[in-house]
Amino acid sequence: MVEINETENTEKKGLNFVEQMVFDDLQAGKNGGRLNTRFPPEPNGYLHIGHAKAICMDFGIAEKFGGTCNLRFDDTNPVKEDVEYVDSIKEDIRWLGFDWEDREYYASDYFPQLYDLAIRLIKEGKAYVDDQTSAEIAAQKGSTTTPGIESPYRNRSVEENLNLFERMNKGEFDEGARVLRAKIDMASSNMHFRDPIMYRIIKHPHHRTGTTWNVYPMYDFAHGQSDYFEGVTHSICTLEFVPHRPLYEYYVKELADETYCPRQIEFNRLNLTYTVMSKRKLLQLVQEGLVAGWDDPRMPTISGMRRRGYSPQSIKNFISAIGYTKYEALNSISLLEHAVREDLNSHSTRVMAVIDPVKVVITNFPDNTVEMVEMDNNPEEENGGTHAMPFTKEIYIEREDFMENPPKKYFRMTPGAEVRLKGAYIVKCTGLKKDDEGNVVEIYCEYDPETRSGMPGSMRKVKGTLHWVSAEHAINATVRLYDRLFDVENPAAETDRDFREMLNPESLKVVTGVKIEPFLAENAQVGNRFQFQRIGYFTPDYDSTPDNIIFNRTIALKDSWEKAQKK
Ligand code: ATP
Ligand code: MG
Repeated sequence: MVEINETENTEKKGLNFVEQMVFDDLQAGKNGGRLNTRFPPEPNGYLHIGHAKAICMDFGIAEKFGGTCNLRFDDTNPVKEDVEYVDSIKEDIRWLGFDWEDREYYASDYFPQLYDLAIRLIKEGKAYVDDQTSAEIAAQKGSTTTPGIESPYRNRSVEENLNLFERMNKGEFDEGARVLRAKIDMASSNMHFRDPIMYRIIKHPHHRTGTTWNVYPMYDFAHGQSDYFEGVTHSICTLEFVPHRPLYEYYVKELADETYCPRQIEFNRLNLTYTVMSKRKLLQLVQEGLVAGWDDPRMPTISGMRRRGYSPQSIKNFISAIGYTKYEALNSISLLEHAVREDLNSHSTRVMAVIDPVKVVITNFPDNTVEMVEMDNNPEEENGGTHAMPFTKEIYIEREDFMENPPKKYFRMTPGAEVRLKGAYIVKCTGLKKDDEGNVVEIYCEYDPETRSGMPGSMRKVKGTLHWVSAEHAINATVRLYDRLFDVENPAAETDRDFREMLNPESLKVVTGVKIEPFLAENAQVGNRFQFQRIGYFTPDYDSTPDNIIFNRTIALKDSWEKAQKK
């Protein structure tokens, strides 16, 4: 299965192996030089980062070679599907920056054609109605070393099969009472050829076709034909479909001729550490209230990542860094986080926020005076500009940036030592006030007026630089400190444990009473991304209210897990 050479050879031309195969087909003039891919989500959940990998491939390859990519909802199981999911999927694909234009399709649009094909196969003696239960059918499947057993209903007459299948669709039989199976080969070495099920009875209304149908096609009987009906030339999917490929081709050949036949190509799924990718498990987290919804910022969903503050570009950068291969792997979430940090470092606005504030009084600074100081919006950007920030007699600094009796090499605020207040002045701590329990409640400092940022005096060497906000002007805010959802590297591999037991109890901490600079009053809009200097990257959440801005921490400035692992 591993085709490393394929990957190695193509790296020279800068194409991955899928792109190379498509390129070769185009060069050979297959399908009249046409390229048409599709992204086929089942609308039974929100999209996750794994889907983003497929989206980047399906839409990206079409863009690269001047083709088109369809969006096709694979809506063949009405029990699990819903329009809420359809809508969220469309929003997420657009947000990633891809466009299907008017090519929005649904497998359910093809139910009539699929039904007609089933009837034709019955007439040709290639399909039959089986009255056995799914358990009985499974028991006859055989194994890779032993052939399966033929169903006692396998040799029914065409008339009887037609009659039963039509009555199945009219709703005359209960769910599970009968299925339509392809009559292929119960001894085939490919298990998928052992008379696979084509249709099952489902009596649940469909979100698009209502109660029109009582039989629904299986994935294998719908997918390839849907590709064919749409004129898809390359049906790119994940490796678990490799063994399905012969069946895909078997059904498509019932429709296709030599001039056009879609080609299935498979690549490896994206699996990420410290999370799960199964839609079933993600749904369970949502339904059991273990997260705040599909877009909870801890979820590996695209909507969760958007709400967390990840940009589409950082997701794309990560996906292109991990690449596409022919063998399964587990990708480190640190790589994704690295891509997010890099992107935010170049694009986020720097602001001051004090998460755990303690008041500092600058005793020699004039009362009732506001000095505006200029702060760089983003030193990484050439024309990033600046914004003004008020400096006053009373400010807040971070509680952990002060120590009365510091150890050696503590370069923050401490009695008798000088420290720089970023963008403002150098100050020296002259005293402090404690409450009855010994907690520091106020710190006293003197500032040196000659050291204002930009003046020659500011060149003086001081080891520490602190962030701060004016006490009078600061706005109150709440921050949600998010961390990894699971505290186990590969929850899916721990098959003897319930995955919910592996949730990281520290994955969300809410901190209130945060003091943020007044610039954020107007700029804290959902979708904006900020660096809280010395702390991390944050983005405003839609739960914010006029008197309480809520920020989601996208990510800390440094990878704290990496440090923890090195210990
Ligand atoms: P289900 O078990 O519900 O089928 P699924 O994850 O396969 O779940 P689909 O909606 O069928 O979900 O997926 C749509 C497309 O996204 C498919 O082509 C699938 O191969 C691809 N895809 C899904 N998960 C991943 C993943 N982890 N990495 C890469 N591609 C993925
Ligand atoms: Mg699927």
